[in-house]
Amino acid sequence: MSQDNISLPPLSRRGFLAGAGGTVAGLTAANAANGQPQNLPSIPDEATGRPFPEAELQMPLPPEERLGWAVVGLGSFALNHVIPAITRSQTCELTALVSGNADKAARVAENYGVPDASIYSYDNFDDIANDENIDIVYIVLPNGLHAEYTIRALEAGKHVMCEKPMANTVQECRDMIAAAEAADRKLMIAYRAHFEPHNQRALQMKRDGEFGDVKMLLGHTMRTLDLSRPRDEWRVLRDLAGGGSMMDIGIYALNGALYFLEETPTRLVATIENPPDDVRFQEVEDMLTVQMGFGSGALANLATSYTMNENRIQLLGTRGSGLLNPATSYSGNELIEIGDLGSRTVPVGQTAATQFTGEIDHLSRAVLEDFEPRTPGAMGLRDVALIKAMYASAERNSWVELNPDGTLVEA
Ligand code: NDP
Repeated sequence: MSQDNISLPPLSRRGFLAGAGGTVAGLTAANAANGQPQNLPSIPDEATGRPFPEAELQMPLPPEERLGWAVVGLGSFALNHVIPAITRSQTCELTALVSGNADKAARVAENYGVPDASIYSYDNFDDIANDENIDIVYIVLPNGLHAEYTIRALEAGKHVMCEKPMANTVQECRDMIAAAEAADRKLMIAYRAHFEPHNQRALQMKRDGEFGDVKMLLGHTMRTLDLSRPRDEWRVLRDLAGGGSMMDIGIYALNGALYFLEETPTRLVATIENPPDDVRFQEVEDMLTVQMGFGSGALANLATSYTMNENRIQLLGTRGSGLLNPATSYSGNELIEIGDLGSRTVPVGQTAATQFTGEIDHLSRAVLEDFEPRTPGAMGLRDVALIKAMYASAERNSWVELNPDGTLVEA
């Protein structure tokens, strides 16, 4: 079962009974003309319990029902975003850590109340199979290690959230999906846009026809790569990163384009340009631009780089456009509607911060309620396949044709 829409939860049985039992007598005599009760409500004037209010937000799960999450790789993203989001979530608790740095892991464990016995290293990682407090494993390692640790976690009987990009190669992605099927466990790729309120609103506006017929999309996602930061060191090494700016940051424009256009391209042409003599770009790309053509006739133009900063996605329709700028930041995203007569910021009402807990709670609920996650392994495979097709196109200096799953049509 797919869960594309955010639905309000049913009230618990206890809440329902409280609501029914708490109905005041006056409410039974409804005025047919305006639907309002005819009598003033009869409520005691001392402190008293009242019915369960209408559910506007999902209730958190009670502590004993929450799923246990293990985080693998205590780097920049894990410590600054993943672990804080797990602690803010409604469905999970942080129950284990996996790290190659025992001192760091001990410090993090102490701060988050994870017992020492639940700290694992890469060497004894497979022992997580015997840890009943771990339901879901979140892989936050360099890209080249995603496949190995995802498969080992699945074989240990755990569900997996894997960071983007899913893996370095299409074959690795296929192996990960096969391992999830063999273990009958969920596999979700940690794309944020699908849980980010401004992106969700832009998709809704497009579906409602507010931009007219959306026929083109522009996506520019870039960031400067700084080798003085430890987190950027592995990103210049092909074995660990799988590629350059497109694998790391351009993938947001790619995944966003397909999220908004709701189809997979049938052909693409890409160009790569690297500054000569820059040590960062000996093994991975700096600038990449790609044009993608879709079966519907839509076109998308994407650009990425490791030497500039830009983060915007624009949906261009026959009646106007929707500009996300920034589109995929951790906070401060904005949606601007542009028409003939000017532009306006679209009020969204939720902050971008909900995207992190949104994706984490989504996988917990996918496990508890047994539905396919909104961003499954097949989506991760599709995006990796498309990036590999971009590399092939740039290498061949020509358009390439694509299969429905995003892989290259080989001549
Ligand atoms: P970091 O370099 O900060 O963290 C990676 C961690 O992986 C290290 O701290 C280390 O943890 C572990 N590790 C194990 N083996 C190696 C190795 N050989 N080289 C380097 N690190 C190793 O990277 P990030 O946190 O920035 O990125 C991690 C993953 O998260 C990537 O896949 C990236 O694409 C993704 N990411 C996703 C984002 C999103 O918005 N969804 C944003 C940023 C990153 P330890 O010391 O504990 O062993």
